[in-house]
Amino acid sequence: MEQAKREEMRLEMESRSENEEFARVVVAVFLSRLNPTLEEVDDVKTAVSEAVTNAVIHGYGGGEGTIFIRAAVEGREFFVEIEDRGAGIGDVEKAMEPMYTSDPSGERSGMGFSFMEAFMDEVEVRSALGQGTSVRMKKRIGE
Ligand code: ATP
Ligand code: MG
Repeated sequence: MEQAKREEMRLEMESRSENEEFARVVVAVFLSRLNPTLEEVDDVKTAVSEAVTNAVIHGYGGGEGTIFIRAAVEGREFFVEIEDRGAGIGDVEKAMEPMYTSDPSGERSGMGFSFMEAFMDEVEVRSALGQGTSVRMKKRIGE
């Protein structure tokens, strides 16, 4: 069997809500080399969007900061990581519970991580208070 070659991309961008659309389009174009279905593209775009929105809103609190995105394809596997060097999360397990939100305004539903888990095969969150957050996700394309 032919050994799958790994291909990678990196993107560094300012933390701005305008960049959410940019990030998910770039990731979707990169993903297109695996010939995904429209549904698979939408799943990945939604997951990336949720993670980037979290970095902008919660990580950097709407202020200045840099968001780092790395993506890779290897065989049928697609990997994407969204990282911020912002506020960090004290209790990751609690933050990932469906409907948990730290937002007091009532505008957020606390479903971002649940969507990421629903649309991707694996979601791994690493975070430390005051240091930032990294969300690594994986999805198998084409099965
Ligand atoms: P929704 O995504 O439905 O608008 P939400 O963003 O509050 O609401 P989740 O995306 O599930 O819900 O995130 C849950 C909680 O985890 C957030 O309320 C926030 O406290 C914390 N969190 C998530 N991402 C980050 C991040 N990058 N930096 C700091 N805290 C985060
Ligand atoms: Mg969210």
